[in-house]
Amino acid sequence: MLRAGIVGLPNVGKSTLFNALVANAKAEAANFPFCTIEPNVGVVTVPDERLQVLSDIATSKEIVPTRVEFVDIAGLVAGASQGEGLGNKFLANIREVDAIAHVVRCFDDDDIIHVSGSVDPARDIEVINLELTLSDLGQVERRMERARKAARSSKEGQFEMTVLEKLREALDAGKSARQVDLSPEEVQVIQGLGLLTQKPIIYAANVSEEDLASGNAWVEEVRKIAAEEQAQVAVVSAQVESELVELPEEERGDYLESLGVEEGGLRTLIRATYELLGLRTFFTSGPQETRAWTIRAGDKAPQAAGEIHTDFERGFIRAETVAYDDLVSTGSMGAAKEKGLIRSEGKEYVVKEGDVLLFRFNV
Ligand code: GDP
Repeated sequence: MLRAGIVGLPNVGKSTLFNALVANAKAEAANFPFCTIEPNVGVVTVPDERLQVLSDIATSKEIVPTRVEFVDIAGLVAGASQGEGLGNKFLANIREVDAIAHVVRCFDDDDIIHVSGSVDPARDIEVINLELTLSDLGQVERRMERARKAARSSKEGQFEMTVLEKLREALDAGKSARQVDLSPEEVQVIQGLGLLTQKPIIYAANVSEEDLASGNAWVEEVRKIAAEEQAQVAVVSAQVESELVELPEEERGDYLESLGVEEGGLRTLIRATYELLGLRTFFTSGPQETRAWTIRAGDKAPQAAGEIHTDFERGFIRAETVAYDDLVSTGSMGAAKEKGLIRSEGKEYVVKEGDVLLFRFNV
């Protein structure tokens, strides 16, 4: 399962957000007993409106959403890359995640101390990014020491040195590894480094309940920075989300309506993180259950089958395939079949977002 790490300065709302994520997952995932692997790791179901539609068509007994993992990585402070606080430990935790959700404080509250004295998203982002960048710089420089020797005797070594030079220059200038233009061969060379600033990032702009509908100037600042960095933004209110989980379900709608929004931002954050991870969803749908499954972009039909069961992958023959939109517009599998919209796809078929699949396999 893919993992996203929640990072940010102290007191920006990370734990509040994480707890809301986890509480929601517990409530929603009736079919999947929520599992706490470690206290700071939560498995979250990915909301997907298509599930209900497919389930209605197939009159399924159950709906099973797909999932993604969130890790609360608290304790990142200025100086972490120099070992300040438990700095290195946190940076090592970040190295293990597939994507970063960076919570940025965009709410004002005199009762909640801000570590730097005032609300200033641009500065906060800079503080965290500097730590990530410095950590990467150290990583690249250590690798260069080894590569330098190899460069004397081999072409590969020389190639590696050029790539590392390129990275060092960018990191030194305060850029992220994400912003460095690398060819697929060059990316290959640095894969093992686990660079933090190479990971896809989403900024979760944490706003007060009053600003959830309208946003505010701080959110705009975050958007501007994100655009420059090729990062994403999701506006969320940790406060609203934590209040929502406390409310009985029938009262949640009224509360959200009073704020002028449809949701507290958590669904958007989960969805956006999922997309950030480069994931694709395919469905299986029948009278028993309608279920969403996760694969990576580019995965082929047998790999998709393998998500369900390794036997499905091994014995894969074909996948009866219909696009979500085609199934919905015709209204039933039978009607889709009559119109020739159900295709029989083989081993080389790259599964597309929203495909509804039925696997044929040998056991
Ligand atoms: P962390 O250190 O980043 O994990 O921050 P916490 O989640 O512990 O939040 C720090 C404090 O800020 C807590 O008292 C929260 O209740 C409060 N807080 C979190 N999000 C919001 C918000 O959106 N608005 C307001 N007013 N307070 C918040």
